[in-house]
Amino acid sequence: QGLPPFEHAPYFNFRDPAVAGEQKAAYETARARYAGQTFPLLIGGEKVAGGGTFTVTNPATGEALWRFQQATPAQLGEAVTAANRAFETWRFSDPLQRASIFLRAAELLRARRLELNAVMSLENGKNWAEADGEIAECVDHFEVFARETLKWAEGKAVYPMPDEHVTTVYEPLGAVAVISPWNYPSAIPLGMALGALAAGNTVIWKPASETPLSSWLLIGLLHQAGLPEGCIQFLTGTDDVLGDPLVDHRDVRMVAFTGSREIGCRIYERAAKVQPGQRFLKRVIAEMGGKDPTVVCADADLDAAAAGIVASTFGYSGQKCSACSRVIAEEGVYDALLEKVKALTEGLVVGLPEHNADVGPVIHAGSAGRIREYIENGKGTARLVCGGGEVRVDGSGEAAVNYVQPTIFADVEAKDPLFQEEIFGPVLAFARARDWRHAIDLANDSDYGLTAAFYSRDPFKLAEARRLMHVGNLYLNRKCTGALSGTHAFGGYGMSGTNAKVGGPDYLFWFLQTKTVAQKY
Ligand code: GLU
Repeated sequence: QGLPPFEHAPYFNFRDPAVAGEQKAAYETARARYAGQTFPLLIGGEKVAGGGTFTVTNPATGEALWRFQQATPAQLGEAVTAANRAFETWRFSDPLQRASIFLRAAELLRARRLELNAVMSLENGKNWAEADGEIAECVDHFEVFARETLKWAEGKAVYPMPDEHVTTVYEPLGAVAVISPWNYPSAIPLGMALGALAAGNTVIWKPASETPLSSWLLIGLLHQAGLPEGCIQFLTGTDDVLGDPLVDHRDVRMVAFTGSREIGCRIYERAAKVQPGQRFLKRVIAEMGGKDPTVVCADADLDAAAAGIVASTFGYSGQKCSACSRVIAEEGVYDALLEKVKALTEGLVVGLPEHNADVGPVIHAGSAGRIREYIENGKGTARLVCGGGEVRVDGSGEAAVNYVQPTIFADVEAKDPLFQEEIFGPVLAFARARDWRHAIDLANDSDYGLTAAFYSRDPFKLAEARRLMHVGNLYLNRKCTGALSGTHAFGGYGMSGTNAKVGGPDYLFWFLQTKTVAQKY
């Protein structure tokens, strides 16, 4: 392809005081640039106001940050029309042009990483390393999608005929609605939008209302890098305007969704309905939740397992669909492992993300309340090992209620909601297995199948885990979070979604249709 070999963007070393100082300063820059501002919608290349505005607040402190528009139903219609209009040009754009836009965007983003880290941290409460991991993933996405664009533009060889010339080529679909969550407000919508754009589709980008600036800045970068106006429409607002009506719209060709199981299933169902005048079957990709297990065999390196469990369970307060939320350990090491995990967990500092605390707030009071309910119920059904109480964070102001103590329950039964339901918070369930095969069975006893970690030193057990674990992302002897674009294609089995595998070698196929042309000699 003529591009330099791909390399993952390295992370910043915040232990270096100079780098830490720059990251702190970036919060000030972000506030100076954006605090108090009102941002527009983007429809057909025009920046426009909606029917009203809403305020984005910092979940760590309650601080009012900036304002975004509430799109009207009429503006939704205009955005879909604009996306389809732009599609008529963008669909025929040169793949080299697309790739070079993405590469240029990667360059531009590299220069602004600390600023985007700060904006995301302010919007969704990630600490420095978590925000940095995500913005680094955005750089990787740009680089990976540049290469994928060129790869898919080549088409694929077919078995030849003696008297016909036959080609198989991939063509885009049309207007793609990109509906994304607040927990990865930059990397997740960017991955879906680049999937659409790389394939020659246009985008209607609807970010989560908690985190719109993390999206808006990336869209700005794409335009600065040369993306033609009109290829992306940006719509913020309320779900009654941008939820069902966007999915149901006759001229939306595809919906790319990441978020909750409830909404994912709803979208899947609604998109199946053919609207009057609709001339295609809508395509849906949906990445939903997880109830991700870590299996620890008796022969495993327990220190490595404990470190992996704590990082993947409590990083970003457990608000990742990839987060570990169940540990299934063999009888012989159960107590020793539990002790190690407990000790590491009690060492975690709960505090402000802006001060780079290990564990920050959850996204809002509603979420905190739901998590506390699981904890209170758990006290009746399982053994509380640590956490489960109140935690005070200096400087948290009105958002004090958003901080939930890292909590571990032991001796959780497989039928317990703590073992089966996605809590999306800093709550871990330990379950005892008779042996490692029983542990695999328990791990697979789930509606979900997104990620899993499996720790053992025995090549046979590792091979059996490879064969039997029912997940889209299986990690052997490492933690179950932190998939890297281009390397760990991300997406699950079962009720975790459609398994489209963002960042993987086949992702673009989901955004394409295949044309076979046979020409008689
Ligand atoms: N891709 C992320 C990871 O591997 C998780 C994304 C999510 O939680 O939605 O940790």
